[in-house]
Amino acid sequence: MTIKTIFLDRDGVINKEVGYLHKIKDFEFIDGVFDACLYFQSLSYQIIIVTNQSGIGRGYYDEDAFRIVNNWMLSQFKNQGVNILDVFFCPHNPESNCDCRKPKPGMFNQANDKYNIDMKKSWMIGDKEADVQAANAAGIQNTVLVKSGHAIDEVSSKAEFILDSIGQVKTVINN
Ligand SMILES: [Zn+2]
Repeated sequence: MTIKTIFLDRDGVINKEVGYLHKIKDFEFIDGVFDACLYFQSLSYQIIIVTNQSGIGRGYYDEDAFRIVNNWMLSQFKNQGVNILDVFFCPHNPESNCDCRKPKPGMFNQANDKYNIDMKKSWMIGDKEADVQAANAAGIQNTVLVKSGHAIDEVSSKAEFILDSIGQVKTVINN
């Protein structure tokens, strides 16, 4: 049994990008994210979050702070009827050259080892080219970049689709 999965970046896709977010009070959901996730569920996708959290490695906040925000976020999803299967995060700073920080595919591989994912039927929705690169390296060709987070170079991007925000995904994910 394999599962098809929507991989979501967090900052800039689920919540507004504020830079090294680590407090619930700074966490603001982007319009349409709950509807989009309910839509994914209706199409029998699992939802997994893969997020670079180098603020931990940089010493801006610790893993406990991340987990507090994460648990709160998951409870908000649950209140809206959305089940997030898992959250994978990379706590390392860029200099550590770990295998998990996007654009490397480590978090996708961890997810695949744990859940046996059909990468060909799965999608990545991110706001940075590194999200697309990591997904492609993990065997995911279906990629969406949203313009609700970091600035995107639309000309050079390898993303399959570029949308204003996650609120528009119904236009490109249909089955
Ligand atoms: Zn890492």
